[in-house]
Amino acid sequence: MPETGNRGRACAYCGRGGKLTREDLFATFLRSFYPSYRTYLDHRRGTQLKNTAPVVRDVCQVCNNELLSKLDNYVADLNRRYFSGTPLPDRPITFEYEYHRLLRWLLKAWYNDARASNRNVEKHRVFAPYILGETRDPLIPVTLTLGILAPFVLGKLGSSESLRLVK
Ligand SMILES: [Zn+2]
Repeated sequence: MPETGNRGRACAYCGRGGKLTREDLFATFLRSFYPSYRTYLDHRRGTQLKNTAPVVRDVCQVCNNELLSKLDNYVADLNRRYFSGTPLPDRPITFEYEYHRLLRWLLKAWYNDARASNRNVEKHRVFAPYILGETRDPLIPVTLTLGILAPFVLGKLGSSESLRLVK
């Protein structure tokens, strides 16, 4: 990530000072795999960003480029293996993943969003040591539940038919 020159502020993850970098709110592999994944809704400001991925500028180079990027690479690999193709109804899929790496990545995305939207940042910051891999478990118990959603088509948001199942 390019440097932003925000010296004097502390890294949102490790708390150390130094030059801060830009952390993508949505991992860059999502844009690579899904070219239509280029419109971002900013509910706080009521705007849409097109072709400009939202970022937060409060992560040091070590956390961003060495620690957090490993989590992104891991989930990018999961995406390549399990989510980039169309599943076939008669072919079962066994989803194999490392619980803690996936949970760390999800908590990272959640923490990034909290900082970008300035919502409950301190509540999310408690997960930073776990996200970085400094602790074996999160300081607050977390349960990761995964499931499969049936395909659906988005309709007009807020209408009674905003979600319609694809049959
Ligand atoms: Zn850091």
